[in-house]
Amino acid sequence: MADTIFSKILRGEIPSHKVYEDDLVFAFLDIGPLSPGHLLVIPKQEVARVDQLSDESAAAIGRVLPRLARALMKVSGTEDYNILQNNGAPAHQAVFHVHFHIIPKYADGRGLGLVWKPTKLENDEAKKLVSELVKNL
Ligand code: 5GP
Repeated sequence: MADTIFSKILRGEIPSHKVYEDDLVFAFLDIGPLSPGHLLVIPKQEVARVDQLSDESAAAIGRVLPRLARALMKVSGTEDYNILQNNGAPAHQAVFHVHFHIIPKYADGRGLGLVWKPTKLENDEAKKLVSELVKNL
């Protein structure tokens, strides 16, 4: 994988506002926060997409996300937040090193804005999808 800005942050070559670190995970403030407290949580494993993560790195991130969220709730004073994780440029990924955003959502609207356009799940399509997905797990 190409070296990204997050590899440089991990190596300490460029500064970051570190919030958390363990053997497998690093968390720091986003440089362009959608709202105050916007955090990025990254694996030390240098892969671009979540589907490329080792089970070990994935578990390490999963273990720490709730703890970081709880700290952010206390500090931001809001209980509400989004966890966002983008894979691929069309899916809005700009830095090609896996990262999870934790974005506080404030009562005044600051935070993640979403355009969510639900369609309807049809029964036949659902059955076909489940069958294909289960085969590919
Ligand atoms: P993406 O769109 O890839 O999910 O989000 C990338 C995030 O990385 C953006 O929210 C952007 O503000 C953040 N970011 C990009 N470069 C840096 C940097 O050098 N330092 C920090 N702290 N955040 C960065």
